[in-house]
Amino acid sequence: LEEQLLQSQKMEAIGQLAGGVAHDFNNILMVIMGYGAMLKGDSLLAPEQKEKVDHILEYADRAAQLTSSLLAFSRKQVMRLQPANLNDIILQVQKFLARVIGEDVQLRSAVSAEPLPVRVDSGQIDQVLMNLVTNARDAMPGGGVVTIETHRQMIEECGASTGEHPAPGPYAVVSVSDTGVGMDETTRTRIFEPFFTTKEPGKGTGLGMSIVYGIIKQHNGFINVYSEPEVGTTFRIYLPLYRIGGAAEESAAAPDAPGRG
Ligand code: ADP
Repeated sequence: LEEQLLQSQKMEAIGQLAGGVAHDFNNILMVIMGYGAMLKGDSLLAPEQKEKVDHILEYADRAAQLTSSLLAFSRKQVMRLQPANLNDIILQVQKFLARVIGEDVQLRSAVSAEPLPVRVDSGQIDQVLMNLVTNARDAMPGGGVVTIETHRQMIEECGASTGEHPAPGPYAVVSVSDTGVGMDETTRTRIFEPFFTTKEPGKGTGLGMSIVYGIIKQHNGFINVYSEPEVGTTFRIYLPLYRIGGAAEESAAAPDAPGRG
């Protein structure tokens, strides 16, 4: 437990640091992009020079995208919690996810017959699913299957692989599985660290899973990962069930205060 606490403090510190750097760096980028745009509009510029300016702007734009995902990670985003059926959120975002993963990978989903009432920021849950599905796709260069499944589960006591121990109670569980390359032990223990990536430079920022971790934690949920090299990976997300019209169903649901570590 102490180790998990340390891990979450470490993430918090890195998040703050990264946010500060991203903010200042972004201001500098704006200056670069501003002068670049002016230069591009210069009528005296030769075509081959213009091409070079385009490259500068293109890369500055990529850097801006990186800083914006950094800011998204570090910012304690204001959550707009609303009661919703988790299954509906998944069914609504499904088409979009299918487009993201492309043609070589098949997306299957099996949501529970019973509704799963939760209190969430659905935009952030979409983001979580997006990140998980994107990683699943990247883990299956030769094609494969991504399965999204939901069910209800009572937690008595659980050794979560990240974050603090979950409160006992009823949870909505979403699992996202792939038939991809899987992870070795070292990778598996580091995936939630900001900037940890095994992807080629330019392909991965190492922020996707730390964003997922942050969002789930803010929802008072937790996330587990099971992975086997050459077989595949399953992420399992637990969100406290919420009783509409009453207090939280039994004891697991989130307090009203926005998530503080
Ligand atoms: P990025 O995708 O930019 O590398 P992430 O934080 O999303 O950053 O993921 C970190 C690392 O976790 C990935 O580089 C990869 O090694 C590993 N990973 C995440 N999801 C999967 C998966 N479904 N299968 C195999 N490895 C994964």
